[in-house]
This record gives sequence, structure tokens and C-alpha cells, in this order.
Amino acid sequence: MIFVVSGPSGCGKSTLIGRVLARRRDLRFSVSHTTRARRKGERAGRDYFFVDPAAFERMAARGRFAEWAVVHGHRYGTSKAEVEVKGRGGDVVLDVDVQGARSIRALYKDAVTVFVLPPRPAVLRRRLIARGLDAPDAIRARLANARREIERYREFDYLVVNDDLERAAAELEAIIVGQRCRRPAREAALAPILRSFRAAGGR
Ligand code: ADP
Ligand code: 5GP
Repeated sequence: MIFVVSGPSGCGKSTLIGRVLARRRDLRFSVSHTTRARRKGERAGRDYFFVDPAAFERMAARGRFAEWAVVHGHRYGTSKAEVEVKGRGGDVVLDVDVQGARSIRALYKDAVTVFVLPPRPAVLRRRLIARGLDAPDAIRARLANARREIERYREFDYLVVNDDLERAAAELEAIIVGQRCRRPAREAALAPILRSFRAAGGR
């Protein structure tokens, strides 16, 4: 299954996904390609594949991306290889912006989409400041973007308000586990059980 986690910059997507990945070994992260510079603490191949604009363009021209978008002035893309290869072996989780979520949903109809909201603008501003990655004008732009993105919450299957981190991470995990319990996802596991009951007849 494909799980798409989206929401405004700074709402806590990567923190939440990190928590859930640490708890669930059966979930894999779709590593995006980006043209932005690597930040301190990030590892190439784990957080992103860092590529230059020419390499990104070549991949796009060769149709290697399931989707790509310009976010805050940089290119970000989900390669088909990440989603399809990792998705084949189990469940894969994507961290993409709202444009990306819409494109993934169009391409992979069964993808499950989760929108993460910060509880209030003041909290989002505080988190962006605390993260220490953006200049004041960049923070203003992210807040203005957030206001627009939040209006699109109806496009998503699930909503998580990231107020208390533990609770929000538990909700994201519950969404994933809940999806796995749905009948279509369970059909394959159920087949031998059904067969054994049928074979047993009335005994
Ligand atoms: P995103 O991936 O959505 O851009 P991050 O995961 O980088 O957001 O989170 C932005 C900042 O907010 C980080 O410094 C992170 O540690 C902090 N943060 C995330 N969730 C919470 C939370 N529930 N409570 C307090 N701080 C949080
Ligand atoms: P950051 O640079 O802070 O890691 O990410 C900035 C934004 O880009 C976030 O909203 C994140 O979800 C989004 N993003 C990361 N990877 C992708 C991707 O492959 N495609 C799209 N559309 N957005 C992405």
C-alpha cells in the first residue's frame, strides 16, 4: 500500500513519519530526489537523493518520476522506482507537498492520503523558527502557503492534527494499521483460512 503524508512545511511531517518508521519495521520510506542542498544531519539516500538541476531534468525527461513539483524554489520528485519497488515488497510512505499528493493519487488510485495540520498559525510559526532553517521572509512565505494548503484538506482521506507529538504519531500509525485491516488488504491472508474451513466442511 502507498501512504502519502502531506501538509504545510513545518507541520511535522518528517518528525511524525520518523517516529512511525522507528516503531514499524514493516514500513518503508520513499526517498525523494531534490535539487536543494543537504542540511546538517541529513544523509544522502536516507533522507533524500541530492541531485543537481541537470540530473533532475534528465530523470524527468526520461519519465522516471511518478510526480515532481517545485516547492519553495527547489525541485522535488518521487521516482517511480521508489514507490513501485518498495511498494511491491510491502507498504511505503511518502512525504510530499499537496501538489505531490494530488499527483500520486491520480497515478496510484489506491494510495491513502493523510493531511497533517498544525494546531494554530502561532504554533506553526514557532516550529519554523525553532527549526532554525528559514530566514524571517521565508517563514512568512511558508505561513502564507500554509494558509492556502490547509484549505485543501478535503482532498485527503485522513486528517491528523499535530499538537501533541506522541498522540499524532499514534494516530498516523493507527491509520496505517487500520488500512491494513480493511477487507481488500486482507483477502490474500484470508484465503488459506477460508480454504481450511471449507475443507473441514461441517466438522
Ligand atoms: P515538516 O517535515 O512538516 O516540514 P518537521 O518534521 O521538520 O516538519 O517539523 C518542524 C519542526 O517542528 C521541527 O523542529 C520539529 O522538531 C518540530 N515539531 C514537529 N512536531 C512537533 C510537535 N508535535 N510538537 C512540538 N514540536 C514539533
Ligand atoms: P524540505 O525541503 O523541508 O525537506 O521539504 C519541503 C517540502 O517538499 C515538504 O512539504 C515536503 O513534503 C515536500 N517534498 C519532499 N519530497 C517531495 C517530493 O518528492 N515531491 C513533492 N511534490 N514534494 C516533496
